Amino acid sequence: QAGVAESDPELAAAIAQELTRQQDGIELIASENIVSRAVLEAQGSVMTNKYAEGYPGRRYYGGCEFVDVAETLAIERAKQLFGAQFANVQPHSGASANIAVFFALLQPGDSFLAMDLAAGGHLTHGAPVNYSGKWFRPIAYGVKAEDGLLDYETMERLAREHKPKLIIAGGSAYSREIDFARFRAVADEIGAILMVDMAHYAGLVAAGAYPSPVPHAHVTTTTTHKTLRGPRGGLILTNDEAIAKKINSAMFPGLQGGPLMHVIAAKAVAFGEALRPDFRAYARQVVANARALADELVQGGLAIVSGGTDSHLMLVDLRPKGLTGKAAEAALGRAHLTCNKNAIPFDPEKPMVTSGVRLGTPAGTTRGFGEAEFREVGRLIVRVLDGLAQANAPDGNTAVEQAVAKDVQALCARFPIY
Ligand code: PLP
Repeated sequence: QAGVAESDPELAAAIAQELTRQQDGIELIASENIVSRAVLEAQGSVMTNKYAEGYPGRRYYGGCEFVDVAETLAIERAKQLFGAQFANVQPHSGASANIAVFFALLQPGDSFLAMDLAAGGHLTHGAPVNYSGKWFRPIAYGVKAEDGLLDYETMERLAREHKPKLIIAGGSAYSREIDFARFRAVADEIGAILMVDMAHYAGLVAAGAYPSPVPHAHVTTTTTHKTLRGPRGGLILTNDEAIAKKINSAMFPGLQGGPLMHVIAAKAVAFGEALRPDFRAYARQVVANARALADELVQGGLAIVSGGTDSHLMLVDLRPKGLTGKAAEAALGRAHLTCNKNAIPFDPEKPMVTSGVRLGTPAGTTRGFGEAEFREVGRLIVRVLDGLAQANAPDGNTAVEQAVAKDVQALCARFPIY
């Protein structure tokens, strides 16, 4: 039978071009990573053909004996990796994992307390355009204006005042450690459930490079494709049997039909990889690299929200150079440095413009970059942004961007992928 190159040249060309883009550019999007060949292979396997509604040993379809092995491996490895008693590996994505918790533990109209999107929270934590904001009643805490750090006092005050049924800790653009014990203490005081969404930090948590929320949270959700370096997907963990039962029924049959068995197989592979000692070294390097990059950017005249990072990501405030996130993202993209514009707390610009970019080190670290390489990346970023600021032209500074693109390619060639 023909492979994709012969059967569908148009699509094959797009895949080939995407591979070249990943090989020749530096991926700085904090939520992305570069999976192993083993993960790719499992995800591209015949397990995609299989219907397996239900859970291992309790399926609504025949022929599940081998996919049961895959899902059991994924569950057992997830439990071991995070020290949790129960794991559901079926969420198709991080957003699906979060909606399962809402579906399992809340009623429409219930209130919950979570980090504001504008302060670094996620869409599924109560944005008005998301189900969480449309069907539930979000109350938002944020960060402090003076130092960009999580505003625990306001979070606690809002919790006592509104007595929400659920409190969510975690976010998409918060670079610092989160005091999960403090969240749990206020949740216990008001009788709320604590959910931690560790989507961004999961790989660091697995490796002991970021504090684990699992002992503190009633339920922990995550994606599997960010720092955890697995296939695109979600995962839910808990130590509470009653919550685990509710989550399992919310996931299936509440929200999903057949689980994506090829993705679950790839999750099993990725969790197995994360259990190995070299993953611990990887995660520590991710954090060291982020600190080096942040330091280099500050030396280059940029500001970092909260003054630095304890994780894999940082939020760069571009206002010292008079630039917007939109223009910076485009200019860096032309130099093959891929990142995303991101609102900074109390951003004066519109959400599609922003005053910041979010940068992360997980993908670069996977390809082998250490602190020296990330310092070089920092200098390349500063060159592009200074060039852009000087040119003050809508289409950027072509000379600088092309020169930086060459240096980026040379750096990538020293650390090839696939
Ligand atoms: N939760 C957080 C904190 C995230 O950052 C993200 C993704 O960026 C998600 C949930 C959603 O994950 P997904 O894009 O897989 O639905």
